[in-house]
Amino acid sequence: MIKIKPPNSYFEEDGGNIRIVWRNTLYADFEKNLLEKAIKRKFKIKAELKVEDGYLRINHENKELGNFVIFLIQNYLREFLRNKYTKRRVLYIHEGMNIPLLGYNAFGLIDRGTNLIQVRGSTGCNVSCIFCSVDEGPYSRTRILDYVVDVDYLLKWFNEVAQFKGKRLEAHLDGQGEPLVYPFIVELVQGLRENPNVSVISMQSNGALLNDKLIEELAEAGLDRVNLSIHSFDPEKAKMLMGMKDYDLNHVLEMAEALINAGIDVLFAPVIIFGINDMEAESFIEFARKIGAGKRWPALGFQNYVPYKFGRHPSVKFLSFKKFYNWLRELEEKTDMRPLVLKPEHFGMHKRRFIPLEFHVGEVVKVKIILPGRIEGEMLAVARNRLIEVINTNAKVGDEIKVKIVRTRHGIYIGTPIK
Ligand code: SF4
Repeated sequence: MIKIKPPNSYFEEDGGNIRIVWRNTLYADFEKNLLEKAIKRKFKIKAELKVEDGYLRINHENKELGNFVIFLIQNYLREFLRNKYTKRRVLYIHEGMNIPLLGYNAFGLIDRGTNLIQVRGSTGCNVSCIFCSVDEGPYSRTRILDYVVDVDYLLKWFNEVAQFKGKRLEAHLDGQGEPLVYPFIVELVQGLRENPNVSVISMQSNGALLNDKLIEELAEAGLDRVNLSIHSFDPEKAKMLMGMKDYDLNHVLEMAEALINAGIDVLFAPVIIFGINDMEAESFIEFARKIGAGKRWPALGFQNYVPYKFGRHPSVKFLSFKKFYNWLRELEEKTDMRPLVLKPEHFGMHKRRFIPLEFHVGEVVKVKIILPGRIEGEMLAVARNRLIEVINTNAKVGDEIKVKIVRTRHGIYIGTPIK
């Protein structure tokens, strides 16, 4: 009997299908009889495949057959990789593809002219908040695929950016989705910690995928702070806001405490929708105080709900920022919790030289299309070692086209095709 279980993986069986789950967040499905047929063709034997205790078992002893099956499974993983939470196809970006990690806002690195660098290893979210600015999660209507960037490749680009940006950097893990969906999250934190230019490593998270073991690993790897999105203390309202019937508020509250106990600071970041959860603001403050959040940084970062063009829009009131800041100031007075009106200096953030722009608005550039984009009509192109999001296009991967650059803000490039 041959037993197969590649590193960081396990198998599941469902009728005629076998699923390999890789690093808990990715999977690939393949038909059992296709694999059996491939074995029959090559080895002229009838093999029976079965999944037991996470292992794929084959009723033969032939070592060569075992290696052949491992080879096929690796191919299936490459070809049919999916995100466990969104179920979308995953494009795995690695060094061999020679894809720049600057220029696009869904993966790679973003420099907004400060000492904070946003690090985005993957797309995709495990929840579907009703106000999500990027229409993410299992119930997204617009996102059609996900990306995962190989961790060594991401760190290589980060190190180059860090050399340019200088010392005392904050590496902030966020993205179009939940950073804990990234299959190499612990390795990423570890790698960033080893960079001498990095002082602080922080992460955005909805907390639902945390568990005690992962928190321990993240703390050991060197994570300093989690900006935790919790939007209500009422379990039913929290489910409604997170857009998930199985969202477990109590688990996330327990994990918030576990983070603090492990030495990782917590900043609660509720999105406030007036008329829905603004009346819970004092409960957030009380809870943050009770569990000792905000040791090195502010304990609370209330966010004003803002509708975005490509996001989801609940039919709710949207408060002007002026009114929102007045509301925060009143809360500071009433609860004596300070600061609630947050400024960059509360996070040690200051201006730094931008990585120079490679293009200017209005410029016409010849680009090569290298990847499909995340929404219909969007493709990713490369020129001058930068990614460019090309919108309103029907170009295909491999095409070389001319685009007009229409946006360059913060080194994120958007272009439209020129006829
Ligand atoms: S708001 Fe954040 S946590 Fe909520 S669905 Fe969007 S990416 Fe996920």
